[in-house]
Amino acid sequence: MPVPSWETELKEVAPNVFAYIQGGGPGIDNASVSNAGLIIGDDYSMVIDALTAPVLTKAFIAAMKKVNPKPFRHLVNTHHHYDHTRGNCFFLPIEIVAHEKCREAVIEAGMPYPTRPDWQEGVEGLKLTPPTTTFTDKMTYRYGDIEVQLLYQGPAHTQGDILVYLPRYKVLFAGDVAFHYVAPHFWQGHGSGLLRVLDWIADLDVETIVPGHGPLGAKKEIAEMREYVEALRKEAKKRFDAGMNAVEASVDINMGRFDEWPNATERVIGNVMRFYLEFQGKPLAPISQDEIRRARETYLGRKVLRPKP
Ligand SMILES: [Zn+2]
Repeated sequence: MPVPSWETELKEVAPNVFAYIQGGGPGIDNASVSNAGLIIGDDYSMVIDALTAPVLTKAFIAAMKKVNPKPFRHLVNTHHHYDHTRGNCFFLPIEIVAHEKCREAVIEAGMPYPTRPDWQEGVEGLKLTPPTTTFTDKMTYRYGDIEVQLLYQGPAHTQGDILVYLPRYKVLFAGDVAFHYVAPHFWQGHGSGLLRVLDWIADLDVETIVPGHGPLGAKKEIAEMREYVEALRKEAKKRFDAGMNAVEASVDINMGRFDEWPNATERVIGNVMRFYLEFQGKPLAPISQDEIRRARETYLGRKVLRPKP
């Protein structure tokens, strides 16, 4: 499937249900360029994810204000990563809802500023704002006649991902369980767990999927991502069985057409390290920031990029 380009937009995907997509496409760095959502009820509105830098969160809020006259009541964090939670502070006072493991991870990660030069404006206004309301399994909100189910399906992209499902409109905000046409990155999650949750989505009664990264899609994009994760698992396992370490395996692996996806090259190593832990019988063992940074440097230093066809 050719890799498309997509624009930044707040798009109504069902009555009073909006996806906020940040633009991208082939050759454009997608790191931390995440998506978000908005659900408008009779008296209040719910925001799904808060983006990563003040300039981005402020643009998101401005776009929402044009279509949404209702105050924000709940902010859902689909998982702990900065690109979904760093903007939390700009929604205060608000109730912030997440999986309990997401809250723990937000607190543990702290609040470093974003590093991209074009995301520096207003960073001094950032403050660590962890979720205030947590759950472990399922929670349901009602926004007018919209039932909003927050569902935990086990570790996948991280240890504490939740999916936001609107059965009435067959809409799923999948957070980073779904990457469409962008290389997924699950070094802090669970590789086979991710495959399981993608299978769960494939069986779900859903027609519109808002991914954490990439353009809007549906089950065909989920199938495509599943193929990436499955292919990487197979390639990593072959090399694990042959006694190669994770860096050697990552240098050796060629992901074929998936190498065209934004951020594909740099993410192989983290994903392979995650699968290696699983092959060693410790799928949830933490990988430290230091460990992944060192492994990535070694890997990128050795990786010979194939010329583009
Ligand atoms: Zn993300």
